[in-house]
Amino acid sequence: MSAKGTKYPETKTLPKHQPLVGDCIFCKIIKGEIPSKKVYEDDEMLAFHDLTPMAPVHVLLIPKKHIKSLLDLETEDIVLAGRLMYKAQELAREQGCGENGARFVINAKNHGGQTVDHLHVHILGGRLLGWPPG
Ligand code: AMP
Ligand code: ZN
Repeated sequence: MSAKGTKYPETKTLPKHQPLVGDCIFCKIIKGEIPSKKVYEDDEMLAFHDLTPMAPVHVLLIPKKHIKSLLDLETEDIVLAGRLMYKAQELAREQGCGENGARFVINAKNHGGQTVDHLHVHILGGRLLGWPPG
């Protein structure tokens, strides 16, 4: 799938080939070395169904650039981060969560419960979700 039809402008300045990190599961998914159930893909991001869904809708949205966590975001990533947020809500609506809502979760590093060290947004919905987190 391409970025055609999305409502935001294409980024012409981002390099097409971002560095991929060899032992990163999500980089391997980007490269097609590990299978995934793709929901969306363009030049700079990929979305796929979580392997262990915690809700009827559980999609992961990742940048193709290997950014370790939200706490490792750099100023050069600001535009990409904005695009990810926009795409997250667009995907949530496409997954049927526009009316009842969804939860967008970014776990960061150890205390945040991050288990895969490649920035990802969890898009969770399709049921009423509990709060607060444990
Ligand atoms: P986190 O704990 O926030 O780092 O989230 C990592 C998520 O990645 C978990 O919800 C896992 O179920 C999910 N996950 C791990 N490996 C895969 C995979 N190969 N395909 C899809 N989702 C995965
Ligand atoms: Zn990676």
